[in-house]
Amino acid sequence: MTTATTRLADYRPYPFQIPNIELDVVVEEQHIAISSSMQIEPALTTKVPLVLQGLNLELDSIVINGSSVPTDAYSLSSSELVLHQPPIHPFELKIICRIDPFNNTSLEGLYSSESMLTSQCEAEGFRRICFHPDRPDVLSRYRVRIEADRTRYPVLLSNGNLVSKGSLAKDPMRHEAIWDDPYPKPAYLFALVAGALQEVQAHFKTTSGRSVLLRLHVENGDETYTSHALDSLKKAMAWDEKVYGLEYDLDEYNIVAVRHFNMGAMENKSLNIFNSKLVLADSECATDGELERIESVVAHEYFHNWTGNRITCRDWFQLSLKEGLTVFRDQSFTADLHSKAVKRIEDVSMLRNTQFREDSGPTSHPVKPSEYKAIDNFYTTTIYEKGAELIRMLHTLLGQQRFMAGMALYVQRFDGTAATTEDFIHSIAEGACANGEQLGFDLDQFQRWYHQSGTPQVCVKRHWDSQGGTLTLEVSQFTPPTPGQPSKAPLVIPMALAVIGPNGRIGEEKLVVLDQDTQSVSLRDLPRQAKPPALSIFRRFSAPITLQMDVSVDESLQLLALDDDPVARWEAGQRLWRKILLARARKQADKPLEERLALALNQLITSGGESDPSFLAMLFGMPGLAELEAAQDVADPLMLYQVYQSLKSWLGVKLSDPLKNLLERSRLNWGAQWPAGQGERMLTGLTWSWLAAAGDCEVRKEAVEAVNGPSMSLARAALRALQPIECTERDEALKSFYERWQDRPVILDTWFALEASTPRSDGLERIKQLLDHPRFDPMAPNSIRAVLGGFASNPPVFHAIDGSGYKFMAEQLIAIDQRNPITASRMVKVFSRWQTYAPSRKEAMHRAIDQLASAELSANTREVVTLMQPKH
Ligand code: ZN
Repeated sequence: MTTATTRLADYRPYPFQIPNIELDVVVEEQHIAISSSMQIEPALTTKVPLVLQGLNLELDSIVINGSSVPTDAYSLSSSELVLHQPPIHPFELKIICRIDPFNNTSLEGLYSSESMLTSQCEAEGFRRICFHPDRPDVLSRYRVRIEADRTRYPVLLSNGNLVSKGSLAKDPMRHEAIWDDPYPKPAYLFALVAGALQEVQAHFKTTSGRSVLLRLHVENGDETYTSHALDSLKKAMAWDEKVYGLEYDLDEYNIVAVRHFNMGAMENKSLNIFNSKLVLADSECATDGELERIESVVAHEYFHNWTGNRITCRDWFQLSLKEGLTVFRDQSFTADLHSKAVKRIEDVSMLRNTQFREDSGPTSHPVKPSEYKAIDNFYTTTIYEKGAELIRMLHTLLGQQRFMAGMALYVQRFDGTAATTEDFIHSIAEGACANGEQLGFDLDQFQRWYHQSGTPQVCVKRHWDSQGGTLTLEVSQFTPPTPGQPSKAPLVIPMALAVIGPNGRIGEEKLVVLDQDTQSVSLRDLPRQAKPPALSIFRRFSAPITLQMDVSVDESLQLLALDDDPVARWEAGQRLWRKILLARARKQADKPLEERLALALNQLITSGGESDPSFLAMLFGMPGLAELEAAQDVADPLMLYQVYQSLKSWLGVKLSDPLKNLLERSRLNWGAQWPAGQGERMLTGLTWSWLAAAGDCEVRKEAVEAVNGPSMSLARAALRALQPIECTERDEALKSFYERWQDRPVILDTWFALEASTPRSDGLERIKQLLDHPRFDPMAPNSIRAVLGGFASNPPVFHAIDGSGYKFMAEQLIAIDQRNPITASRMVKVFSRWQTYAPSRKEAMHRAIDQLASAELSANTREVVTLMQPKH
């Protein structure tokens, strides 16, 4: 099967406008009848056919201006309805069709999940509900009538305002609700929910004094876990008013939690739909990290109301226009509410271990791709997180005030329209220069970031003139070739610099704009000393690049101790961790360096000088597996897995006393309510994990007890500490976690993930048991990701040298692809690193990819598998 390629260069405006749509949705026992009535206005004077998309729709009738359309006036394929000669004047097109949401396992369009019917239309799900152009540049006002059985579906929701609700005169067992959304929107923001849901309400008063009703809809029994999400929503609404001057624009805001959902959450206008794992939480049943994540996703979806909904995307190549910008906004929100430093470090670490990995592999693509086969495959960390980095660089280059002036102009100019990334960039630049200032960099060159894939490497060589006190940097940039892009042009790279002396920073921070293949930068008037001062570079991680610069251990230790930028400080520590771990992986442990780092860590613990325990925990965090693999000539996940463990165990012995001390101090704050106590709980997890690895039986016992304790953060920290160790405490801990949470599917997914990622000799057998477990729900993407994702992060089992792990994974993905292509095509990327492994592993993984390639696959999964196959 070949699927057509969609190209940015082929974009043409849709030749019709559809200012109004009326949808009539009648929910029956076995199907839903959809009648859509569209007001259509030809936008061109020339006659063109009217092309509508439609998937899995059973067409009943087509009526134009009240007269039925004869069958020879249109053609219908499995994906399109074409009216050959539509009227040249505005007309009403009424189409009746039926759909079957009860057997829809793809979780796109309308589908059933537990006791409800729910919709997912981004990116191209609306065509599974009714015939429609289903492209984001067609904006319409929607009026929706939903009719259903009143006992099975007491709650009927759609976008906008509720116009009326009541029982049907002709049948008192049925009722209807009519919704009207005054804001024109693209079809991907349409939403509909019908079901037996419980509602929890709250209110928010906007700056201009309007009261907004906040409604959270959950399954029966889940009401008690809603206050965190509602509080988060209120915080997000207040923050967007305060920081961006953007106020909510309707009288109500609904969030629905569903168990079966392909992604995290969806920003449908005034009717967000959330994966229930991103709604239901309190500190007993969710970790600190999960509470923060929920807060940020609730905010992310809320922020889309302006960056995504009021201003939407012209076409799907502009996806990062809404996603990159909205991620940047939610990152700033979390940073403002909590710790700027910790948030930035978490984001940098995540970028390195997911986006950098993607960008150096077969599915690497630009933030603005130029073509795709299945758009669902482009909801990637590149579009989201790298996209956010591009916005952040603009913010860094312009400063907060000028960036905000640009944002204001963007909103003013494009509100109510479907825009492009160029529209955004130009507005930002124009708004930032409204008072006649210079931009300070080349805007067209900056936009290369959108089109060039790959992570740029910045190489810095230093020359120190001790007599003159001048430090000269020879800086070159190079972006390695990526699929379809053999050579690259230089980018605009903001490089924030400072010099660190024995008492901290010397002079001011300097922002240098790199824009050449090679260029030289001088820092003058520095203390005239024999040794060059330490260099703090790419402070705050001012650009998403990898740095190549010789840094001595002394310099790293000095920065770790004294840099006033916490991100650069953390980075200095990461450099040392990486060096140590990679040396161990080469079986050439750098003992002197290990001793020095241990000493530095000891000082950090005992000096008590670190006021933020979360930041201290960041300094103790080892670099991720993905970034270490990337630094190896031949990636060896198994070896690295052992190396983490052996280093922890060595540190657990070496630092036993200070760690116990730290544990005692941290314990005092265990009971503090999130966000308080988070840092101490992180540090507890760290000390547990190191001490348990070192064989400390008391700690193991304490960890087992924590699994039954009042804090989910500590319970999970305990499980993580015990997991790599073959011991009875581990089995005991996993068992009591299961027993405690077996009736809560969202939490039980954690158990599935833990079980699947626990290294054991009968690992593959265990994976099979989990997939057959009575509580495993094969229709829930969360469960699939828990087991198969856990499996993929279980090196000894997944990477078994006989290839059994790969083969089993491929079989599972082929089966999942039949039911749910979106989930399968996202998971299939577990094979994307095959070329980086040693020959035997590489061949085994290659066989698994071939196995997939020769199966019957969805267009989504086919596209990813084809990219991963070797090019001939
Ligand atoms: Zn988003």
